[in-house]
Amino acid sequence: MPPLSAPSYHEQIGAPSARDGDGFDTLIVGAGFAGSVIAERLAGDGGERVLVVERRPHVGGNAYDRYDDAGLLVHPYGPHIFHTNSADVFEHLSRFTRWRPYQHRVLASVDGRLLPIPINLDTVNTLYGLKLSALEMEAFLASVAERVDPVRTSEDVVVTRVGRELYEKFFRGYTRKQWGLDPSELDASVTARVPTRSNRDDRYFTDTFQAMPLHGYTRLFENMLRHPRISVMLNTDYRDVLRLVPWKRLVYTGPIDAFFDHRHGKLPYRSLDFEHQTLDQERFQAVGTVNFPNDYAYTRVTEFKHLTGQQHRQTSIIYEHPRADGDPYYPVPRAENHTLFRRYESDAEQLCDVVFVGRLASYRYYNMDQVVAQALVTARRLLAQGRP
Ligand code: FAD
Ligand code: UDP
Repeated sequence: MPPLSAPSYHEQIGAPSARDGDGFDTLIVGAGFAGSVIAERLAGDGGERVLVVERRPHVGGNAYDRYDDAGLLVHPYGPHIFHTNSADVFEHLSRFTRWRPYQHRVLASVDGRLLPIPINLDTVNTLYGLKLSALEMEAFLASVAERVDPVRTSEDVVVTRVGRELYEKFFRGYTRKQWGLDPSELDASVTARVPTRSNRDDRYFTDTFQAMPLHGYTRLFENMLRHPRISVMLNTDYRDVLRLVPWKRLVYTGPIDAFFDHRHGKLPYRSLDFEHQTLDQERFQAVGTVNFPNDYAYTRVTEFKHLTGQQHRQTSIIYEHPRADGDPYYPVPRAENHTLFRRYESDAEQLCDVVFVGRLASYRYYNMDQVVAQALVTARRLLAQGRP
């Protein structure tokens, strides 16, 4: 909580004050999940007048989807698969979309074969020509696992679960490509996202709710933002309107270091180049995504029709090429970055009328459902405080 004496950001920058019938209660920066969920809650439940300002020409943030020239639904910012264990999050989003059940499956190209990832019983049996049972798989993993104590890095997590050989085949190369860092330089939480299984379950996620918005993410966002008290301004950097449009409270969902003009130095974000291709064939690959841990500059290829269930005589795929510079897509989880983030976070805590929410503003490797959960908690807190 900011100290009570903290000057408001509003006063600091000399922004015009909103009065009844003029201006907005809340100015929201970013129309991704963080900004859009909060906008709907404040306007819907709180009766607030809300302005959402988005730099890009569309709503949805990185979850935005659209139809390409061939009429195939694609995700311009990389494949987005919805999964959550939170009934609260699922029910909330279900107010704005119907769903298509979808369980994501991924194969990794290793030693010339396509093998299930997360590593499971079939991965090991096929790779080594074995016929292990689930019980024998557990004994196998125990025999190859290394002992590391404490488990700190992304290398530690994997070698303690599956040993060095499987680590090198499935994780080391992929992680180096994706992050430009060795797994030993990244927090354990990164590779810990991918489990290991001794059974034959080949789903990428095991969450209770796994589904895609029936008519796409953009439609979901449009439904969420369609409210008489919500205005959306696209193609606009919030800095261009901050001192022009009257507002009382700011919700910021962009990169936190950019908000403070990088005053403590730049927070590292990992970026990607997306290479889209539309092919004159109905099917390209057997599953939604194929990972390439050891070959090529790209990490993975996704075929959207698996995700969307669309019927079409053509198909659209996306290659992800990691890079250091470009749009900020991934916060980079490691101790020194978290320390730098904490300096920005403590600056943020001094501002009584600005709220920082979302993956970039929290500098956390959040999935969509985690951002929605964080946004719902934030909205409840703001609603409890009453209109600004
Ligand atoms: P964003 O979606 O980034 O929205 C922030 C918005 O703020 C952006 O639209 C940006 O343009 C805008 N903005 C920033 N600065 C300004 C400014 N100065 N003025 C105006 N507007 C500004 N999650 C999953 O659950 N499942 C997945 O399969 C999945 N796949 C992913 C694949 C990739 C390649 C990436 C990068 C992410 C993936 N995610 C996935 C994570 C998911 O994208 C995020 O959790 C979620 O979209 C974050 O929402 P957000 O609102 O915090 O941020
Ligand atoms: N990872 C890997 N090999 C794989 C899949 C994942 O090494 O085949 C590691 C890699 O470091 C990756 C992380 O696990 O960045 C998290 O994977 P996830 O699929 O969750 O990444 P995202 O979809 O968020 O890009």
